[in-house]
Amino acid sequence: MPAEFETVIGLEVHAEMNTASKIFCGCETAFGGEPNTHCCPVCMGLPGALPVFNGGVAEKAILAGLSLGCEITRETVFDRKNYFYPDLPKAYQISQLYHPICQGGGIELASGRFIRLREIHMEEDAGKLIHDPWTESTLADYNRCGVPLMEIVTQPDLRSPEEVIEFMQSLKSILEYAGVTDGKMHEGSLRADLNISVRRPGEGFGTRTEMKNMNSFKAIQRAVTVESERQIALIKRGERVLQETRRWDDNRDLSYPMRSKENAQDYRYFPEPDLPALHIDEGWLNEACKALPELPKAKRERYFAQFVLPRHDVEILCQTHALTVLLERTAEQGASPKDAANWILSDVLRLCREREIEPAELQLAPKALAEIIAAVNGGRVNRSGGRALLEHVLAGEKAVEAAIAELGLELAGDENALGASIAEVLAENPDAVANYRAGKVKVLGFLAGQCMQKLKGRADPRRVSELLREELAK
Ligand code: ADP
Ligand code: MG
Ligand code: ZN
Repeated sequence: MPAEFETVIGLEVHAEMNTASKIFCGCETAFGGEPNTHCCPVCMGLPGALPVFNGGVAEKAILAGLSLGCEITRETVFDRKNYFYPDLPKAYQISQLYHPICQGGGIELASGRFIRLREIHMEEDAGKLIHDPWTESTLADYNRCGVPLMEIVTQPDLRSPEEVIEFMQSLKSILEYAGVTDGKMHEGSLRADLNISVRRPGEGFGTRTEMKNMNSFKAIQRAVTVESERQIALIKRGERVLQETRRWDDNRDLSYPMRSKENAQDYRYFPEPDLPALHIDEGWLNEACKALPELPKAKRERYFAQFVLPRHDVEILCQTHALTVLLERTAEQGASPKDAANWILSDVLRLCREREIEPAELQLAPKALAEIIAAVNGGRVNRSGGRALLEHVLAGEKAVEAAIAELGLELAGDENALGASIAEVLAENPDAVANYRAGKVKVLGFLAGQCMQKLKGRADPRRVSELLREELAK
């Protein structure tokens, strides 16, 4: 049965670009820092201060555009968007309205549906307001003023929360591969405005609402679901959806109206008089094309062809650029790609989840991972010892060799000790031995466990089983 209503979603995604300095001044862009220490007269908007465009920002925007199949605008211009808000000391934002740097392009979903982009434009970020409930006052931190942003605007082509999440994941992945943003959603360096409407299939677009600055996949998924349900319920009751901006409350799992668009403000856009148009010539474009790295799709295909890895594993790995970098560098250090992939997909990802960090934030040297893998494969350390090593190396930047010694993980390599423990266990468990010899081979696990206990876990379980089997066959 076809659904009675269809959800229509269009996104405006803001990505902070990872340039070292801001878009119109030399101040640093690093996240955090003492409030108001990454500031100067330009980004604070002091009278008379003039912006100078950071060409690195255009380079990143062009790379993003090429990665997303956009057309690059050869003569791109900045515009002034005027409005007053305390996080914007200049009282205007330098942005692009009429001639954005990239146009068109898009992302193909796994279903084959193509989600079109309208444009990518460059603009400056605003500061941050911190509302202090204790003193009932608001503090302004202007460190973020002038951090370069690209705004990626889609056509209203998305049709479900699942499509929105897949699109966002894919976009994040492509931007990370292109090296233009760090993609840290929890720090706000990637955030999406959701435009949502509903309609009966075949009808024209309905009235949309907007939810700004959504910065987690979970919140995005819930917000789209809950908002489309709210709109459908309104229409079924014979009421009208109001065009408005709503705020998503993640704790209460609902949204509430913030401001109506019926009295939308007029931004009095006009071409920015303090900046010249930017001409992107053939030479510049060619350079950018050459700088274009391997993108997720090509990487996936190469991994399928080159490594013997399950399809699903390749897909998970390739979604996160940092994981592919770790895999390739670990392999360069001598580990087999298959082992590296297994460790990354199990232990490395688990560590990221436990620490609530993105893989890109994990300070794990590929050399260390390769050494841990070698120690386990060589039977020097067992798998759980390998896990302990990984955590130890991460916690203190210790060298793997030193950590093996410090944690006492070296397995009893000494075959005499192994042989002695096996002899003891066989003597202590005549019933199990008889059962094994009568064909109940499952008791081998029990006997091996007894040996491991005697050896206090410091033995290679594979070697123990092997020796047990030999002994029992005698
Ligand atoms: P505005 O000028 O108000 O910002 P735009 O036309 O620029 O509006 O569109 C902003 C975003 O809203 C785009 O991502 C677009 O795809 C999306 N959008 C436009 N109309 C609808 C609609 N009816 N339903 C859902 N999204 C929409
Ligand atoms: Mg818009
Ligand atoms: Zn500055």
